[in-house]
Amino acid sequence: MLALQGATPVALAEAFAISLAEARKIVSAVHRQKDLREPLAEVRRVSLDRVRAGGHVPELTLVREEASQLDPFRKLLFRAAQTGRAGSAVDDGPGELFETVRIPLERAGRFSVCVSSQIGCALACAFCATGRLGLRRNLEIWEIVEQVRWVRRGLRAGERVHGVVFQGMGEPLANLDRVIEAIRVLCDPSAQAIDARAITVCTSGLPSGIRRLARELPKVRLGLSLGSAITEVRRNLMPIDDTFSLDAVLDAAVEHAQTTGLSPMWAMTLLQGINDGEAHAHALADRALDFAKRAGVRPRLSILAYNQIDTEADPFVRTSLDREEQFRETMRQRGVFTHKRYSGGSDVAAACGQLAARM
Ligand code: SF4
Repeated sequence: MLALQGATPVALAEAFAISLAEARKIVSAVHRQKDLREPLAEVRRVSLDRVRAGGHVPELTLVREEASQLDPFRKLLFRAAQTGRAGSAVDDGPGELFETVRIPLERAGRFSVCVSSQIGCALACAFCATGRLGLRRNLEIWEIVEQVRWVRRGLRAGERVHGVVFQGMGEPLANLDRVIEAIRVLCDPSAQAIDARAITVCTSGLPSGIRRLARELPKVRLGLSLGSAITEVRRNLMPIDDTFSLDAVLDAAVEHAQTTGLSPMWAMTLLQGINDGEAHAHALADRALDFAKRAGVRPRLSILAYNQIDTEADPFVRTSLDREEQFRETMRQRGVFTHKRYSGGSDVAAACGQLAARM
């Protein structure tokens, strides 16, 4: 059985041997939650019967929704089916938990959806709650798309989903076939009609995936989680550095920028006494200036506040506001400007993986 909300019109037309025009109508009906048992204008009965016989519209199971008291931030915790495969029963076991975050943008009524691409993650970054879970499984295309549909359904009149960021649970470039297809569905005018330029895929740094992303989705922005611009520190924080050094990752990111013309987002989570000192600020500025020279575009630097995973087992501490300001100031003096990334919702554990890790 094909999960219909995870299919583009082209995929649907191929799977059921129907015309592309009919497939577009059916995809549009699925994403607007129309009942496929009803006739659809300009779709032949025989086509609709074929799609109904071989396809279905599975739903995610919402376990918990937490709304921030501070702003319109929301965190949704879903329970996945055990396999998530189209055709598998949704109730074939307790499944695993994953999360989605609705992030308010500066303009009132506009939201970005932070989606998960895997349940858990194999890459084990030391500062990440998801990394502590290990990899449970990849999310399917429909499970990625459904996170955005779910958020959209909860919006009020006049509100809308502006963008999507792959920065929830998991390493999206380790589930790249499905992530690429999910983005195609999200951008398709018959489906979620999201502007590809408002989508960012954040990676800890898999060079071949970065290059493929540039080839296949040249309008989608790249996000890099750096950990530290100093090799020895990055290696301690991000085991992936043993396989792909920051130099190799940045070479791929330069190629990405040259191919797409897009400046990447660089994310750095500041950890007290680990990567927030002056030497780290200068090393990051060096990397950013070198990148700009080679790629022709400047990276957009996002400095994130660390959210404690739990007080006993967590070896890291959030950098003080003063220290964070000094870090930014050092960067500014080097001619590198940083964004203070949205850090609302801290009352509902805003950092990636935290809600699922707490269950
Ligand atoms: S930061 Fe990203 S890549 Fe690293 S463990 Fe967490 S989810 Fe995986």
